[in-house]
Amino acid sequence: MATTENRVEKAVAMAKKAHEGQFRKTGEPYIIHPLAVKKILEEWGMDEDTIIAGILHDTVEDTKLSLSDIKKEFGESVAFLVDGVTKLSTARNGMRDIDTYLPETKDNFLRLMIALGDDIRVLIIKLADRLHNIRTLSALPPDKQKKIAKETLEVFAPLADRLNMGRLRVELADLSFKYVDPRRFEELKNMIEKYNKSAEKSLKKIEAEVIEALKKEKISCEISGRVKSVYSLHKKLAKHDQNINEIYDLIALRIIVEDVTDCYLALGVIHSLYTPMNGRIKDYIAMPKQNGYQSLHTTIITKDKRVVEFQIRTKEMHEYAERGLAASFYYNEQKLTENYKKGKIEHLPTNLLWITELQMTAAKLREGKKVDLKKLKLNLFADKIFVYTPKGDIIDLPNGALPLDFAYRLHSEIGDHVVGVKINGKMSNLNKKLEQGDIVEILTSKNQTPKSSWLGKIFTHHARQKLLHRLNSNNNS
Ligand code: MN
Repeated sequence: MATTENRVEKAVAMAKKAHEGQFRKTGEPYIIHPLAVKKILEEWGMDEDTIIAGILHDTVEDTKLSLSDIKKEFGESVAFLVDGVTKLSTARNGMRDIDTYLPETKDNFLRLMIALGDDIRVLIIKLADRLHNIRTLSALPPDKQKKIAKETLEVFAPLADRLNMGRLRVELADLSFKYVDPRRFEELKNMIEKYNKSAEKSLKKIEAEVIEALKKEKISCEISGRVKSVYSLHKKLAKHDQNINEIYDLIALRIIVEDVTDCYLALGVIHSLYTPMNGRIKDYIAMPKQNGYQSLHTTIITKDKRVVEFQIRTKEMHEYAERGLAASFYYNEQKLTENYKKGKIEHLPTNLLWITELQMTAAKLREGKKVDLKKLKLNLFADKIFVYTPKGDIIDLPNGALPLDFAYRLHSEIGDHVVGVKINGKMSNLNKKLEQGDIVEILTSKNQTPKSSWLGKIFTHHARQKLLHRLNSNNNS
């Protein structure tokens, strides 16, 4: 059997040969890109198969190399990963119009996520691929830049967040926001810099005070400032009517301590030094976020009236918050890959149960088993819900969608002839808001015609357009 070094080197040689004569938009030889993806995956501490698949990720789509060549040389697992990444990128092809492009990408992406749920490493390779592409986006023409940046902001950054890859999320979001809205980006970046500068002195003082107080309690710690990302400030300002005085985490200090007990002790120490703000203490250690994020947060007011957020966590929590799923791969690599091979998934970190769920659901669907899709908490895009046809096709709709939206989404012929709806096997009515995981069966009759009263029972723009169109043409005939 080939040694680690050998396999990786072999993959590099294979990719170099396959991409020979191809160039990137920057003018550089194409191989620069797969090698950059390799480096990113190595930095993330990914396992060897993932790194090899990263090196080869563009070969099947863009070169003469075939999947069976890869399988022969590197085995089933690498071939599966390369195939998955290829499928993800073909799902994006042919979507030229940006308005339909994004929703379609999200659709396809989610469908594929379920299909690929078996091996989440496919998504990690895709994220590394996107990271390098967005880092080198300036070489593309402006219209392409905007499109890729938008897609990154709306699809890949949320995905990184879902996997709790915090550092990646920030880089993806800020790099792409710069292309999506360059003026706003500069404006906010300057705002953050100015704010940080004005706070510099008092922050130093606070840091010293906290270290001293923690030392007295024999709590050893590392303390550092965290700079707020431009894009997250943009989103927060939108939520708060652009009022910067309502943003309480512009300045945040991170305290990394030894263990969980020290986290709570440190929180007490900080509250004895400064006045905590009402309702701003969050215990994500006892109650982790859905992506597994753990930390204690508190916002305090200093004597000179500065608002500072503290984030207190252990080293492991910190590592996990920065690197997310990739970090767990690093720590559990052997176990995890073994279990993937055996089809066992219970060794994933418990705080990433949604992945386990995704995998179990995918497996059951493949076996043709009935699954309780309601329990699948797959809300990567929080404003979306997933409902199902009785045959099990997945339809995603905006949160708030009603049965007629579903019907028109299937086909306008179905929408036009709706007489009723069954939700989860029970008769329901057209005013009933659809919920995540509902199985929706539309009842139709040939004799039914669209009614103008339906306009009040529709939520989506898409269905409204179709209905209006039909109502108008009926009036004219
Ligand atoms: Mn690529």
